[in-house]
Amino acid sequence: MRRRQFLSASLAAPLVYAAEPRPAAVRGQLTQPEGKPPALETREHKFIPLAADAATLGVLQDKRLAGVDLEALGELSSGGVFQVGPIHTKSMFVHKDGSRLLITYWCDLCSIRTYTPGVCWCCQEETALELRKPEKE
Ligand SMILES: [Zn+2]
Repeated sequence: MRRRQFLSASLAAPLVYAAEPRPAAVRGQLTQPEGKPPALETREHKFIPLAADAATLGVLQDKRLAGVDLEALGELSSGGVFQVGPIHTKSMFVHKDGSRLLITYWCDLCSIRTYTPGVCWCCQEETALELRKPEKE
């Protein structure tokens, strides 16, 4: 019994994180300039251009999110561009009324939630933007 406890304790060590850089975070007002990549305008009025995968870019270019107080997690690259984490890492949050909210898209008809704007894959209706508190893990 004693040995077994020791084993599980050593397996729980977070080896995975050692090799990965700590994600950085940027926060500011989401701006969507015409013909340019989306950017965050910080409180110091600095513009940080954002790069991301297609699904994440879909969110960043969603006109319903223009001007929101956005926090993005990812990595600052050497060119000053902030690379937002891939869509499955849920790296974008809207700060609203003191809450940190996940950006999700919801089809009321099918009760299907997605994380990028577009039509529901089931009924092909446009999904609704829904900001919600992340679920407790
Ligand atoms: Zn649907």
